[in-house]
This record gives sequence, C-alpha cells and structure tokens, in this order.
Amino acid sequence: MLSVLQCLFGIDEFRRQMMAYSNGKYNTNTGFAAIVEQISSMGFFSRKFGVVSVKKFFNFVAQVNPTFGRQEGIDAHEFLQWILIELQSTVSGVRYDKAKYDPKAQPTWVQNLFEIIVGNSFRCLCCESVTMLPESAWTLSLDVDANTSLPELYRYFIRTETLKLNEKKYCDKCKTFQEIDRSNKLMKLPRNLIVHMKRLFPIDKINIKKLDYKILFPLEMRFGVQSGGPFPEDRLYDLKGVVVHNTPGLKIGHYYALVKYGDIWLKFDDTAISVI
Ligand SMILES: [Zn+2]
Repeated sequence: MLSVLQCLFGIDEFRRQMMAYSNGKYNTNTGFAAIVEQISSMGFFSRKFGVVSVKKFFNFVAQVNPTFGRQEGIDAHEFLQWILIELQSTVSGVRYDKAKYDPKAQPTWVQNLFEIIVGNSFRCLCCESVTMLPESAWTLSLDVDANTSLPELYRYFIRTETLKLNEKKYCDKCKTFQEIDRSNKLMKLPRNLIVHMKRLFPIDKINIKKLDYKILFPLEMRFGVQSGGPFPEDRLYDLKGVVVHNTPGLKIGHYYALVKYGDIWLKFDDTAISVI
C-alpha cells in the first residue's frame, strides 16, 4: 500500500495538491481525507522524503476501510483505485460513481491528473452505424502475455475484434442481430497515465494465478486518442514510477516502488529508501 502512495507522491502536482490539502483546503468526511490527515500528522510533508511507520499506517487504513485490514494479500491496484475514488469524492464534493460519468462536467484536478476515458465502440458491419459507450477509468488495465512489451499490450488493447456467429450483437438501426466490430478507443488521456498490468489471471471461478511474465517497457511512450472526442490529443509520457510486486505467490506479497525524482531513481521499500 505504501508503494502506491510513494509513487503518487513522486508526481509534483499531486504532492503540491496534497500539501494544499494538508493546509486545510478540503473538509474531512472521506476515507482519503482521513488518510492524508494521518500522513500529514506523521510529518510526511515536513521533509522532502517523509517516512511513515508501516505498522501505524496499516492500522490506520484498516480503521478507515476494513477491506484493507489484513496484512497480507492486499492488491495494490485495488488500493490505488480506492485512494483515487476517495480523493475524487473529496475534491468534487460528490460521491464518485463511474456509472454516472458526465463528459460535459468540469473535471477536477484529480480527473485532469489521472482519469482516462475509454470508449467501448461497436460498429455494425451491415449498416455501419457506430455506438460509443464512454467509460471513466483511473488506470489503463492491460491483459498480459508471455514475450511481450508494453507497446504490444497497448496495441492489443485497442485492437478491433469482429463479433460474429453466436457473439453477434443487436443493432438498433437494423433491428436485428448483426456482425459487429468491437474495439476500445481512448477518448481522453490524463496528464499522468497509470498503466495496470493484469497479472492476476482467473484459472476458474475460485482460483487465480499470477502471470509472472517479463514485460519490456520503454522509458517514454506515446499514447494516442483514437476517437474524435473533445480531447483529440496524443500524449508522450515519461516513465515516472513503477510499483513492483516481487513475490511469486498471491497470499504473501510484498510491494516496493521505484520512483524518479529529477534525474535519479529511488527505491522505496517500505521505509527503506535507496538510490538505484
Ligand atoms: Zn446495423
């Protein structure tokens, strides 16, 4: 859990906003607000690289959200999502609900920093009408595979697949089931793109396996917007931080973070910080 916060705090704008927060900018009725207050009270903001007692932090988070009360097997991605949802709810004053995504609403700084809009696109192969269902997400979640790289996984994410035979979809215009081209289209990219590698693979309804593949990733990468929505810009991203789950098992997991500060990379392993 700490590794997630250590990566987030490596982002200058996020850190500045949190410092503004700790100076009493927002009210304190959400889980995130309580956590920021706790981190702040531990002196996190008073030093350039603050250290938080892991045990104290775990205990505190568990009080705010009992889902994270267990010491083992906490999924960093789940924790990150929770943090960002709590933060968005705090900043906007409205409980975040991705099902109620409104593309016309004025985005908050949290949305500008992290929110991705992905369009679920369906194109009828008979009448060629296109339906696009925009969805808000905090991470670009990519399926993983052996012998691949991040650019390859991204290309797979935006691929077009044809739904045919028993996968055909109902077309409102044709009034019948038709073959459909389906694809994910990025409609809006945030200032900081968080990519999530889906390494936890369900083998069946109960069992999950960790896919320990080595996945190559570049230090900078361009992501494109594939839909002519209101945010038609490509963005070139520099790698800023990585959260690493370094154990093969699922139950006993340990995360550490690699974060770039200026020209140097730091390894945050709980409270141990080293230059790499
Ligand atoms: Zn049609």
